[in-house]
Amino acid sequence: MNLKNFKYFNLLAEYLFKQEVEKPIAKARAPIYFEKQEYLSLPDQSIDRELSLENLKTIIEEIPKTTSPKFFNQLFGGRQDDATIGELLSVLMNNSMYTYKVSGVLSIIEKNIIDKIISLINFGQNAGGTFAPGGSMTNLMGMIMARDNACPSAKQEGVFQKLITYTSDASHYSIPKNASIIGLGKENVRLVNTLDNGKMSVAALETEIKKDLESSHKPMIINATAGTTVLGSFDSIEEISKIAKKYNIWLHVDGAYCGAVFFSEKYKKLIKGVEKADSFSFNAHKMLGTPLSTSLIFVKNKEHLYHSFDISAEYLYQTQDDDYNLGKISLQCGRRNDSLKLFTLWQSLGKNGLEKIINHLFDMAKIAKSYIENNKDYTSYSYENSLSICFNYKNIDPVLLCTKLYEEGELVVGYGEFKNQKFVRLVIVNSNNGEKEILDFFKSIENFAKKLELSQTS
Ligand SMILES: *Cc1c(COP(=O)(O)O)cnc(C)c1O
Repeated sequence: MNLKNFKYFNLLAEYLFKQEVEKPIAKARAPIYFEKQEYLSLPDQSIDRELSLENLKTIIEEIPKTTSPKFFNQLFGGRQDDATIGELLSVLMNNSMYTYKVSGVLSIIEKNIIDKIISLINFGQNAGGTFAPGGSMTNLMGMIMARDNACPSAKQEGVFQKLITYTSDASHYSIPKNASIIGLGKENVRLVNTLDNGKMSVAALETEIKKDLESSHKPMIINATAGTTVLGSFDSIEEISKIAKKYNIWLHVDGAYCGAVFFSEKYKKLIKGVEKADSFSFNAHKMLGTPLSTSLIFVKNKEHLYHSFDISAEYLYQTQDDDYNLGKISLQCGRRNDSLKLFTLWQSLGKNGLEKIINHLFDMAKIAKSYIENNKDYTSYSYENSLSICFNYKNIDPVLLCTKLYEEGELVVGYGEFKNQKFVRLVIVNSNNGEKEILDFFKSIENFAKKLELSQTS
């Protein structure tokens, strides 16, 4: 990069960092506001540097600040500087991961990360893995491998049989969406009942399987969730794996939200039995805070990756053996590098530092949970070991509260629903936040509610 351009970039980065501190919540605006802004128009003639710099600064001012200590809305947030440096370098280097010839040392970095995690989750000698653009896509890869396993002719001839997917009614929407994408049909996804704590009912799972077998349908995959999107519950992988084994069904563990607990000696118990799964996926961009997206999938037997994703293309694969041409096991053709950011974070913190991030998040969640449980103005809807702290404050409608908090630029937090109960969902996933930020969150809500009541009565 021309050094002059890099200085221009530096200016913008500095402006962003300053804004993040001074204005951690951007003004809430309707889309129509932006549609009318001249600075977003696409001109016929080039505009000068100064003006484009001003335009980009305005965009920076307006952007929702996901790095802010007041942002609790999503299952990601904050910024890990060392991971961000790796990501920025990836952008500058601009490699593609499909062949060793163009990815070089990056393919070794990717393989080292995969191998290290395979050993941490005890997936064994024959395991393999890869990166994909997001947790929905790693779930897609798991489902494709399960389909080709249940029905080996599917790849060639298509699917002519009812292949059934089992997942809990609290699992991520990508499961039924993927069933539709790969031609299985959403109707063939059984949304298995959850217990009150958000975990899949294993008894209900077995009942559903038996019903399908009686109707001569073919069970294809059981998806267990490690950290459900709303409640942050962990399905009992150990128990579910017994059912998977009994009926010979592929077991996938969707750990997009909280699968990274395997880094922690203290919390890896939450995914106990994961080594019995056929595939496991997690997002490092959620609990570990790497930039979006850093999604990995692991498979017990890497032959499945080759069986489902290897298409021979001689124009592309001209050197090295398949082990280093990572495109052979990829969902994509060109694939950006998503491993360097995890590598730079891992090198700077060590595995012990990654473990500390996981433990810290659970510590913060405990502080939040005990705060609401010790304050009679709050109703708690959360369970043990969850990073999603769900609650209502006084009798305030959570939808109204979250909307007002956003519109007034107070806090960015969302609401969720479980078994017909709506509540505020405080997501504890930004490890830059400490006890102060968590307690400030509640203080903001309390002060804001007081103000809201005042303005309603006046
Ligand atoms: C976030 C999430 C996903 C989707 O991950 P993306 O990276 O956003 O595609 C899938 N499953 C669960 C349980 C999630 O929380």
